[in-house]
Amino acid sequence: MRALVTGGGGFIGSHLCRRLLADGFTVTCLDNFASGMRRNIAELAENPNFRLVELDVTAAPLDDEFKADRYFHLASPASPNPHTPRSYMALPLETAMVNSVGMRNVLDLAKRHAGRVLFASTSEVYGDPLEHPQREEYWGNVSSTGPRSCYDEAKRFGEAICMIYVRKYGVDARLIRIFNTYGPNMDPEDGRMLPNFITQALNNKPITIYGDGRYTRSLCFVQDLVGGMLAIMESPRSDAAGRVYNVGNPEEHTILEYAKLVLELIPSSRSEIVYEPPVPDDPSRRKPDITRAQAELGWQPSVPLREGLQKTIDYFREVTASP
Ligand code: UDP
Repeated sequence: MRALVTGGGGFIGSHLCRRLLADGFTVTCLDNFASGMRRNIAELAENPNFRLVELDVTAAPLDDEFKADRYFHLASPASPNPHTPRSYMALPLETAMVNSVGMRNVLDLAKRHAGRVLFASTSEVYGDPLEHPQREEYWGNVSSTGPRSCYDEAKRFGEAICMIYVRKYGVDARLIRIFNTYGPNMDPEDGRMLPNFITQALNNKPITIYGDGRYTRSLCFVQDLVGGMLAIMESPRSDAAGRVYNVGNPEEHTILEYAKLVLELIPSSRSEIVYEPPVPDDPSRRKPDITRAQAELGWQPSVPLREGLQKTIDYFREVTASP
């Protein structure tokens, strides 16, 4: 079977490409490296079942040569940190376009060739949630004009255009709402919480907590997430087209707890925790309700936080040490 992965050079996309190759797929990866990194997929270049095409999926309709049995649309900046060059706030128009025009281009290709589509949506469609934990039925609390809207609204539109193709053209598009995910291949410079905390701790620099550290997040190890993506894509349910699933780890901790755990796992660090001003529009709590994925797909995360964090720290040590 053939798989097309847009954003296959990104953090999650690169793990997905590896897993698909291991499962026997022939994989084409489309990436313009706006936020992905070549090193994430460098070693796949020698695999005869892998092909990388450097392409902006918003530039033009996708050529029939990219037709596949499974389409995974992951291409998009995803870090919210406005101070970093590859975040969605630094690339707001690209973010809006890749989740709308880019999504449409993928859907048109699937419409022409009858493949299945999985759209990588996000917990950010719930905005700063008023319901906790967040269930798939929750419509969210999103600002359409706030600094995060270029991402939140783009992902919401991506979901909406998927549903148009499901209802109007019978395309088999499925939706995954990805909650905070971590692991090797994260960009150490993307400004997110763990990349910041780990690189700060490794370099004996202050650990920067934005706000008072009492906000929460629930972190899922990337291999667990990829398992959830495939479980949705391969679900045999008759109502799978247009079905939405939360995928994440419901184990919730405060930002301060994550900072302390990183310091505990890097005992040589001389870093101290410092508090910086809170980030505007920062969701105060986030935790997935994964009842649906558990009940309908038999999926749930299995990698413990400490184990996943240790692997992530090992990876950051390796990439930040190399020239
Ligand atoms: N955060 C922090 N210090 C950092 C980076 C992030 O305190 O150096 C906080 C951020 O304000 C948010 C949480 O950590 O409350 C998770 O942020 P992240 O950028 O990882 O992703 P988000 O969940 O906001 O999309």
